[in-house]
Amino acid sequence: MKKHKITLIPGDGIGPEITEVTKKCIEATEVDIEWEECEAGIPAIEKYGDPLPQSTIESIKRNKICLKGPITTPVGSGYRSINVALRQIFNLYACVRPFKVYQGTRTLYQQIDLVIIRENMEDLYAGVEFEIGKSETLEVIQKINSMLGKEIRQDSGISIKPISISGSEKIIRFAFEYARKNSRKKVTAVHKANIMKFTDGLFLDVARKIATEYSDIEFEDRIVDNMAMQLIQKPQKYDVLACPNLYGDILSDLCAGLVGGLGLSPGVNYGDDIAIFEPTHGSAPKYAGKNVVNPSAQILAAILMLRHIDEIESANRLEKALSKVIKEGKYTTYDFKPEGVSGASTTEMGEAIIREIGE
Ligand code: NAD
Repeated sequence: MKKHKITLIPGDGIGPEITEVTKKCIEATEVDIEWEECEAGIPAIEKYGDPLPQSTIESIKRNKICLKGPITTPVGSGYRSINVALRQIFNLYACVRPFKVYQGTRTLYQQIDLVIIRENMEDLYAGVEFEIGKSETLEVIQKINSMLGKEIRQDSGISIKPISISGSEKIIRFAFEYARKNSRKKVTAVHKANIMKFTDGLFLDVARKIATEYSDIEFEDRIVDNMAMQLIQKPQKYDVLACPNLYGDILSDLCAGLVGGLGLSPGVNYGDDIAIFEPTHGSAPKYAGKNVVNPSAQILAAILMLRHIDEIESANRLEKALSKVIKEGKYTTYDFKPEGVSGASTTEMGEAIIREIGE
């Protein structure tokens, strides 16, 4: 049996609870993993005075595979997102988020099985921002106003939205290759090219061009607002969605809502040789330490990770056990229950999954 060395970042908020349960579930499948546990977020500030210590970065660099819990980003002030920083440091340009309905989940839909592929590096997340009132911000405003004859107000903050041909080519090609490898039939490019011609328009042009190289995969495009409505009305019509960063982020939460909530939505951030597996949800601070949240998204992220490292049998055993526990509904957390009905604890759900793996 092959031994794997993997970086484990419990994160903060609900992260430590759900990663602990996930680790036990993985270990129950008897896969041979040596975890290198590292801090990021609030515990890292407490220990090192740095939310993303160099030792954590080095561990990911060494091991190439990382299972990560959610990490809090202070709103408006404080340090920038550690999640965005990790993507930038390791050039994790593609975020893949599969959405699938498991029987027993609280959802109106029965047949969703789609994947969002989100560009991770560019767009409004590039971190090119100008703070209100700063001299450089006023300089940018004056320059734009004089160059383009616009009237951006002096009391504005500015965020820049860069979308490049090279970045778009990389993500669109990734989406088509992913479709091919995973026997999927269709790629839908999502954009707002009717309004943002030079950024989303460029993304769409690139998508159309690359689509011609993949005659075995159907291609279409949707304007993002229409896409949101279509996903609510007929999600079963969609297969692989290729999205610029911001739309990918928003539609991911929408799709999470369709399949039963954020607690059931995993994701992977891929670079050329590094992959970080994580839930789509955040650190849900109001539930931290309460042992009540759903560990499924973290477990589903682990299942994606096991498949990535070719531990297919372990991944299948874990997914089968998780599906059974969800379907039976006896040991599922509050978010599987009708409003106001309490659920099993995070650890009880984990124990039920481990019992199922042992069956
Ligand atoms: P969130 O995803 O943490 O939580 C929103 C709500 O979703 C929760 O209040 C809860 O009702 C529900 N929820 C989330 N996870 C759940 C689970 N496992 N089980 C059951 N219910 C669950 O979103 P937020 O409150 O906007 O963000 C909190 C913090 O997390 C912020 O600092 C944000 O920046 C950060 N964040 C981190 C990541 C990441 O680490 N990749 C992703 C998103 C948000």
